[in-house]
Amino acid sequence: MAIIKTEGVILRVMNYLETSKLVTCYTLNQGKVSLLAKGARRAKSRLGGALDLMQHVSIVYYTKETRELQTLSQAEIIHSFQHLHTDLHRLSLGLAILEFINKAETEKMANPKLFRKLIASLSSLEIAVQPELIFYQFIWHWLANSGFRPKLRHCLSCGRPLGGEKVSFSIKEGGYYCCHCRSKIENGLEISEKCVKLLLYFYDKSAVKIAEIKIPARLHSETHQLSWQYMQYYAEGLKKLKALDFLKRIEDGNRELKKGEL
Ligand SMILES: [Zn+2]
Repeated sequence: MAIIKTEGVILRVMNYLETSKLVTCYTLNQGKVSLLAKGARRAKSRLGGALDLMQHVSIVYYTKETRELQTLSQAEIIHSFQHLHTDLHRLSLGLAILEFINKAETEKMANPKLFRKLIASLSSLEIAVQPELIFYQFIWHWLANSGFRPKLRHCLSCGRPLGGEKVSFSIKEGGYYCCHCRSKIENGLEISEKCVKLLLYFYDKSAVKIAEIKIPARLHSETHQLSWQYMQYYAEGLKKLKALDFLKRIEDGNRELKKGEL
């Protein structure tokens, strides 16, 4: 038996038997782990208060190779992301990110870079001018982490850097055809260069920087479409992800909003 001390974000909490809880936690050093918090529902439990969804916690647990469920012994709150709990839209985006990690990541596969991105994204969601952009940035980073980073700096056909107005994006090839080459592909997604630049911005800048920007509705719509189609293609096993439905609803909501403006 080994003792593990690490930090994590609580992805899921379920009641277990009469007094305990089952907790799924995405940790810095161990990736996703399932933990049994014995007696956590008792009023006097030291664990109980720290085990809410989305808390960033410092934890200690006992682990045995042969067991799937490990025993949690200590949990203390590092950050609660309080502002997310007072805004339904931000909260939904935060929950979508948690669901994404829970479904997409396999148990005990540590990925400190993804963990830090998760913390930075949840923190920035609290303050972002357009919180959806934090969600988009997170999924594009996850895609890159999983080996599906698109090529965004040069045209796939002629190698020209960005410089025209419209490009045709090939989801299958993971890159764009510039304004001179875009007739060479069928079924490309017609998007503006600004959309490609925004994706580059997602990769080059921190979540804190993304939290400061505001983009026009049209660019928002293009970014949504591209993110949605790309995700559907490369994260096929995740099609039932509620977060994807959510992503779709963001766009539907925007369309409604636009209709209202007219
Ligand atoms: Zn070209």
